[in-house]
Amino acid sequence: MDLSFGAENEAFRQTVRAFLDEHWKPVRGPELAAYVTAFRLKATEAGYLNRSIPKRYGGSEQAPDVLKAQVIRDEFGRARAPMEPPGVGTMMLVPTLLERGEEWQKARFVPPTVAGDVQWAQGYSEPGSGSDLASVRTRGVLDGDRWVISGQKMWSSGADRAHYMFALIRTEPDAPKHEGISYLLIDLKQPGITIRPLRQMTGGSEFCEVFFDDATTPADWIVGQRGQGWNVSRSTLKHERASIGNADRSEELVARLVELARETTRFGRPAIEDREIRQDLAALEGWALAHKYSAYRQFSLAADGREAGLVGLLMKLMVTDIGHEAARIAQELIADDAMIQPAPAGTRGRGREKWLDQIMGSLGVSIAGGASNIQRNIIAERGLGLPRDTTGAEA
Ligand SMILES: Cc1cc2nc3c(=O)[nH]c(=O)nc-3n(C[C@H](O)[C@H](O)[C@H](O)COP(=O)(O)OP(=O)(O)OC[C@H]3O[C@@H](n4cnc5c(N)ncnc54)[C@H](O)[C@@H]3O)c2cc1C
Repeated sequence: MDLSFGAENEAFRQTVRAFLDEHWKPVRGPELAAYVTAFRLKATEAGYLNRSIPKRYGGSEQAPDVLKAQVIRDEFGRARAPMEPPGVGTMMLVPTLLERGEEWQKARFVPPTVAGDVQWAQGYSEPGSGSDLASVRTRGVLDGDRWVISGQKMWSSGADRAHYMFALIRTEPDAPKHEGISYLLIDLKQPGITIRPLRQMTGGSEFCEVFFDDATTPADWIVGQRGQGWNVSRSTLKHERASIGNADRSEELVARLVELARETTRFGRPAIEDREIRQDLAALEGWALAHKYSAYRQFSLAADGREAGLVGLLMKLMVTDIGHEAARIAQELIADDAMIQPAPAGTRGRGREKWLDQIMGSLGVSIAGGASNIQRNIIAERGLGLPRDTTGAEA
């Protein structure tokens, strides 16, 4: 496997480095937010951020080049410089609008989302409609120039902080279930909407229940045609699964676990000397490396203009399984101490709050963006060509 980027891209790397040396000086305190916004603007003007977005929508409109994109990710990561604003707006909605939206929708919603000025929530899941997403029941009725919406969305990450939601709404109740859904954009700041954050076992509250009680949205805030929402949502989920499948974190996770094992005592000696722990760590490192090389494989296929196929489908499952196993080993090391919050001074396992989040959060990753069983179904059916699952859940 040739892992070099070639002379042209190495020269490009030096240019990116010089840009970062000149423009990215980490600052702290109240001026940070404005500094980051100004930096992102400069990085976009230089062609390093928002590369696939046309200039007229606030992007840098660069020709697709996976090698250059990777060089930029590497160098920004090395300098700990911020890339595009995180969130479902930039990650999922923007690519979907660029692919499927009307011109006015792109012009209105893409620039402020890319700039980080507006936040979005994803309104797909409902009580009883998660894996079987096509069974959503939240209703939209066209009444003159607006949709009137009633029902409930569930697990909507960050909805309490978001300005808008992109949602799957049943607008054609008499059509077959996949053909009766529309993809609507909704202003969350209106009287007919109640947003209730849900308390999680980590103590945080990242998701919300969102209730629609005759809420409204303009008739043309629809992406694609009436009844095409299922199809439009497939492009959004494709982007979600692809970003969850990123390999960058796996090696870092193993390195942090090794550090935890060094500083933790188990049966009266450093846990890193324990045979069982060493074996677990070595096996996990094997998985992390397999993940990294699968990412390289996916990357070289993309550089060649080829589809990732089975490798691409495996990536989210690998993140999930590695995260679970890391959480299990951390739990083994920290034991009951993990449950005491905040950590008493001088007890084992420094930075345990992060590990507690890893332990509990790894359960969430196996569900978010499509549960692991569903992902296995997709791998079986689309990757391996096995017969379809007949239980009714949608991949
Ligand atoms: C961290 C996180 C963030 C999320 N953010 C959002 C968000 O912003 N917006 C949003 O709309 N939703 C969000 N969700 C919800 C998520 O999309 C759903 O939880 C997910 O699709 C699963 O649906 P469910 O919870 O109803 O579980 P169910 O579909 O009821 O599944 C329960 C279990 O049954 C299994 N199962 C179901 N069907 C099958 C089958 N056919 N074959 C085998 N096994 C099956 C599943 O694998 C799972 O283990 C989020 C979830 C998490 C954990």
